[in-house]
Amino acid sequence: MVMRIQEDISLASYTVIKIGGPARYFCDVTDANELEAAVRFAAEKELLFFVLGAGSNVLISDNGFPGLVIHLRNDAIKIEGETAYAGAGVMMPRLAMVTVQVGLTGFEWGTGIPGTVGGSIRGNAGCFGGEVRDNVESVMVFDTKKVTRLAQAPAERASFKLQATSCGFGYRESIFKKRPEWIIVDATFKLKKINPATAQNIFRKIQKKSKERVEEQPIGEKTMGSTFKGVTASDDIIAFLRRANIAWQKGVNRRGFLSAGFLIEYAGLKGCRIGGAEVSSRHANFIINTGTATASDVVELVTRIKDTVKDKFGISLEEEIQYLGF
Ligand SMILES: Cc1cc2nc3c(=O)[nH]c(=O)nc-3n(C[C@H](O)[C@H](O)[C@H](O)COP(=O)(O)OP(=O)(O)OC[C@H]3O[C@@H](n4cnc5c(N)ncnc54)[C@H](O)[C@@H]3O)c2cc1C
Repeated sequence: MVMRIQEDISLASYTVIKIGGPARYFCDVTDANELEAAVRFAAEKELLFFVLGAGSNVLISDNGFPGLVIHLRNDAIKIEGETAYAGAGVMMPRLAMVTVQVGLTGFEWGTGIPGTVGGSIRGNAGCFGGEVRDNVESVMVFDTKKVTRLAQAPAERASFKLQATSCGFGYRESIFKKRPEWIIVDATFKLKKINPATAQNIFRKIQKKSKERVEEQPIGEKTMGSTFKGVTASDDIIAFLRRANIAWQKGVNRRGFLSAGFLIEYAGLKGCRIGGAEVSSRHANFIINTGTATASDVVELVTRIKDTVKDKFGISLEEEIQYLGF
């Protein structure tokens, strides 16, 4: 497939929340050579670039983005023994399904993430007790700085392999958030061989949990997933919540973080609406586009939530979502 740079492409349909203005330039990229060509195009035109996966964790400005959006679509999966290789454009639920089908266990949780492997590695996404760092063995990285410096650097000279131990994984964190010049191209995941019937059983249990999650979260709606990260329950914060007589223990998740949804709900913001953007009544950490929301509506709502939570609990919420074009 030959890479084609398109102009003035509306980005709303490339996001789950269905919000966002146009990209000045846009291209689908399916392999390392196309990626290199795209990055070179941006370098030559002195444009900023942005890598877009499934758009399940981004808010794009109503004015769009004046640079190049690189839509990563390399979606090959290869299994060798207990190692699964996946392109950055592979959807997490598909990788979960394929690994189960070949009798590998460890990645079943991936069925709950409506994003790509690339976006999920960057944010160390996780659910149902699993997260990316539990399985990733190594990540192939494309260093875009090399393309801009060496005009004709071949793709392999700009690419290098990073072992998981060097990825700086933490709660919704990785080194890739600090190195925006690095693009995740593909990754290997270390899994375990088990009896295929047992793997199917585990998968069915996770799928059941996924279905149950619909009761508690606005899955299937136009949203960005969790808007804010959980909060470290420091001694100061706990002392504050105790003084305010708040039953804070209910809001602590299994990783020991105070859930942002709990704080937002406690602040009385469930259902709060600005324009077409609304705090979900099923889960207060989700903002939904009720149909007519603009990015400005969402930003205003995010600000309202942060201000209210700060006023009520003295806690500063930090966004998990990524902004583009603001
Ligand atoms: C209904 C719903 C439920 C969700 N549930 C969960 C959940 O349970 N747990 C959880 O952790 N998340 C959850 N999310 C959030 C989201 O699915 C994850 O953050 C996901 O990993 C984002 O992947 P993406 O491909 O959509 O990334 P995008 O939204 O496209 O991009 C997110 C960021 O990653 C960067 N990026 C994307 N691909 C690459 C790449 N190849 N190289 C470098 N950077 C890249 C982008 O530039 C951007 O900064 C949910 C979202 C929704 C809508």
